[in-house]
Amino acid sequence: MMLNTLQALLSSFGPSGNERAVAEQVKALLAGKADEMRTDAMGNLIVEKRGQAGGKTIMLSAHMDQIGLAVTDVEDTGFLRVTALGGVSLEKTAGHAVVFENGVHGVVMCQPTKGETAALQHVFVDIGAANREEALAMVKLGDACVYVPGCYALGQHRCTSPAMDDRCACALLVELLRQVDAPRNTIVAVFSAQEEVGIRGAATAAYQINPDLGVALDVTAWGDTPETKLPAVKLGEGAAIKFMDRSMIATPAVRDALIDAAERIGAPYQREVLPFGGTDGAAIQHARGGIPAGTLSIPCRYVHSACEVIDLRDLDSALAILKEFVNGQY
Ligand SMILES: [Zn+2]
Repeated sequence: MMLNTLQALLSSFGPSGNERAVAEQVKALLAGKADEMRTDAMGNLIVEKRGQAGGKTIMLSAHMDQIGLAVTDVEDTGFLRVTALGGVSLEKTAGHAVVFENGVHGVVMCQPTKGETAALQHVFVDIGAANREEALAMVKLGDACVYVPGCYALGQHRCTSPAMDDRCACALLVELLRQVDAPRNTIVAVFSAQEEVGIRGAATAAYQINPDLGVALDVTAWGDTPETKLPAVKLGEGAAIKFMDRSMIATPAVRDALIDAAERIGAPYQREVLPFGGTDGAAIQHARGGIPAGTLSIPCRYVHSACEVIDLRDLDSALAILKEFVNGQY
């Protein structure tokens, strides 16, 4: 069930600022399973599942957008120059195939740097055009491309895809809404826009929803591959409950409620202390006069590369924790 939902969401085109296709996919997956669905001016898709009388309002946020490259210029020779949408690094992007919304494919390469430090300004995209005119008939300035989608199994429990960040959490949120009926608390699920470019969608969503508490659902970094030890988070050892990252220190009450939920049901979980990064949780926490907020993370290797890897058992652990969490007394 979770894998089917995940695969459907991984195939949708959704660079920051153009998340419509992902929102449509989510809406289709949730048809008949929500009390209300709406899209706001930022492009957030907001889905409500009403709780019981006396319950609180919990905002859960998973971002729909993925990192990408936007066309800034087209050379006379037909090659595209690009800028980053979100945290795109040169070493992870060169050598990969990309696709635009209209189906045009390209390959990303880096030119000889002639002694300069390689940077995104040295990157070009080859879409097979012979000259500028031909290229402009295929794509326009401002168009964005993403890594060509795909999802492959790695071993028994893991899979890889370019859009795991954060479609695996979108899948988690979809499954929660499909599986939970009459929760104690009202769930306002935000499939947020523009997270990768500065946690923008969740900020306006948190303001309008004004929840009693909030939890972001996002991937987190890994510390279990050669010469990578930080953070102390491993794939396959359960969802990670965030203590801090560079954008927030989780509100202790929310963090502890997540831990209590995991312990009550015996779900595996890890404590996450991340010295970098940020999530929608910060936007919720900073909204209005401040809102108690935390983050539940899915451990993910090679974040912001074309081959992000997760362990499906961690998604199962996260789903079990969330099901318990939304029925808690706050
Ligand atoms: Zn993310």
